[in-house]
Amino acid sequence: MPVDKKKYIEISKTLSEKKVRLVAVSKTKPVEDILEMYALGQRDFGENYVQELVSKYDSLPKDIRWHFIGHLQSNKVKYIAPFVHIIHGIDSEKLLAEVNKQGKKINRKINCLLQVHIAQEETKFGLDEKELSTAVQSIKENKYPFVKICGLMGMASFSIDTILVRREFKKLKLLSEKYAAALQENELLLSMGMSADYNIAIEEGSNLVRIGSLLFGSRH
Ligand SMILES: *Cc1c(COP(=O)(O)O)cnc(C)c1O
Repeated sequence: MPVDKKKYIEISKTLSEKKVRLVAVSKTKPVEDILEMYALGQRDFGENYVQELVSKYDSLPKDIRWHFIGHLQSNKVKYIAPFVHIIHGIDSEKLLAEVNKQGKKINRKINCLLQVHIAQEETKFGLDEKELSTAVQSIKENKYPFVKICGLMGMASFSIDTILVRREFKKLKLLSEKYAAALQENELLLSMGMSADYNIAIEEGSNLVRIGSLLFGSRH
């Protein structure tokens, strides 16, 4: 399926009016599709497999900002540490420590988002509230000087129950407000919302959405 250019132009215009950042999720899609969207001005792309991300980084323009949005295994951090723009899925302190270690090796402070478990499904990754609080405390104590926490990320339940989805986004927004002062960044990012639920996410305070299938067509 080709890139839906009309849809891209429409969505990116709406989002920029609302000051919401768009990460175009290009996982499983060929570099040709990414280049088509790049030609329309898109620079932020999201991937969730390390190998695929590294190979796309190698073959595509260097002004693309690559977002790692999947579950990241500690032993693979080193492959993306030199170039990744933001790691969205920090879901354990072990991973935080590893990102810090790899950042230190190459003297690069790496942008990260703490992923919070807000959905009902057990299958989804993320810190629970207690782990989040502990991680924020460690960051405040400057335990990870080569990590820059830019905000929070979360995924709502995969459900047609919009009341449930909205409630989960609301919870993440509240948490981001709770920790805003502690994280002390100028612009605290709140990465929430995908093709199916990005409108609700924005209504609930998202300022970064990760949209794949709506722009690139469905994945097989
Ligand atoms: C695949 C993926 C997306 C995009 O999903 P779509 O439904 O295709 O928009 C967003 N976030 C994460 C973490 C993903 O893995």
